[in-house]
This record gives sequence, C-alpha cells and structure tokens, in this order.
Amino acid sequence: MAGWPSSRRTPKERLSTPLVGYKLAHPMVSADGTQGGFCGVTLGRASVYRVVADAECAQGGRHSSPSRWCDCGFYCVNTLDDARALACDPDYRYAVVLEVAVSGRFLRYEKGLRYARQRVGAVRVGRCGCGHAGTVFVEAGAGTVGWRRLVAVCTSCVGNRPSITMAEFSRLLDGTPVMQDDMARPYDPVRPYDLSGASAGEDEAPADTRDLDQVDNAALVPLLTAEVALLQARLDEIQRQLGRLTERG
Ligand SMILES: [Zn+2]
Ligand SMILES: [Zn+2]
Repeated sequence: MAGWPSSRRTPKERLSTPLVGYKLAHPMVSADGTQGGFCGVTLGRASVYRVVADAECAQGGRHSSPSRWCDCGFYCVNTLDDARALACDPDYRYAVVLEVAVSGRFLRYEKGLRYARQRVGAVRVGRCGCGHAGTVFVEAGAGTVGWRRLVAVCTSCVGNRPSITMAEFSRLLDGTPVMQDDMARPYDPVRPYDLSGASAGEDEAPADTRDLDQVDNAALVPLLTAEVALLQARLDEIQRQLGRLTERG
C-alpha cells in the first residue's frame, strides 16, 4: 500500500505491483469445450474474458478502460467477505467468486477498484440451488455467441446431466485452481432447514423460493451496504461529470 494517495477517488492511479481483489462472475465454457472463461454479472455481461484479460469499453467507446467518463472496466471488491456477501443476492447466487490480481490503471472506491487488467488466481465455487455445496458444473441454459454458461450443482442435483468437474474446469483455465468455497460461515443468511418462520400447515416451498424467504433482514444489511457503496461510487462519478458539463454550458 506504500505510496498510495490517501484520496479515495484520485484519478487514474497506476499499480506498480498487482493488488489482490475479489469479484463475482459466471463460469463459461467455449462451444468446442476446449476453453474456460468468465462473464460479468452486471456490466459487460455479453463479453467473455479468459484468465488474463484487459478491460475494453463495454459501451463500445474507443477510450482506454477504465475511464472517468464511462462506467466500463473491470470491477472488484477488496475483501473475500464482501464478494461472498454480494453472492447472497439472488441475482448473483449462481456466480462463482474469483480472486484476481489487478494491475494497470485503476480508480479506487471505498469498497473496491475499477481497473484495466486482471489475472484470475483462483475460482471459488459456492452453493447448488438446493443449498448443498456445488461440486460439478453443468450447462446453465444461458450463454453468448461461442460460449455456454455453467452453473455449479451438488452431487444429488446433477442427476445424469453431462457435467464438468472442478479439476476439468481448472484445466480449461490453464491450471487456475478451482475449489469449493468455505460453506461453514456463521453469518451466512441461507438457512435451508430452518422453517420456523413459515406459517403452520403450509407446504414446504421448493428450495429455490424457500432460501429467499428465509434471508434474515439483519444479515441483509452488510451485503446491501457493500453493493450500495459500489453503486454510490458510480453515481457520484456521474453526478460530478454532469456538474462539469452543466458548468461548461
Ligand atoms: Zn467505456
Ligand atoms: Zn443440489
């Protein structure tokens, strides 16, 4: 950290040594099954990146990414816990957590970075939709041209579907470690077997809806805070830019 300016939004700093960050992504496999990759969960959803990647403008701009005038670039949060917290969001629950070494130009936010270049150092696999640890990847039924999206499922839910083991996926990623994430976390909001909140006599909801019903409000606060912090940082930036434009006018 030595030498870093204290202001958290200094324009385009450049990293002399790579910094580790964490992010969510969907695992992908190429149509011919010979390559592994990832696609973003929000911005840049349509483009697939491999283990080492340079950011390109997701809006089709010609500027180098990241730019203060655009929201493109790779994003990460600073801690594994913040990434795990984001993964509790129903929109991201089937994503994996990537550990990335960040390099090149970057913009710093309170909880994370927006940056130019990354190398994926490890892939952490979370839960199957049923709540058990994901152990193999199957097709998610989504994708983009040339790439199929994968989702991790447990040994019971995989059934007789064709699957890719974590070791195989690691090979498709040039040997990048692919591992099960630690499931024994005391603050984990998903409690699949605690039905005390359900009304008496009600049939058990299917696992997918049950998980959502049981998200504890208190546990939601830290994960929403992490997400809002990133969104807020982007809003601040846009507002500042709008302010400048208005002044010029
Ligand atoms: Zn851009
Ligand atoms: Zn399962």
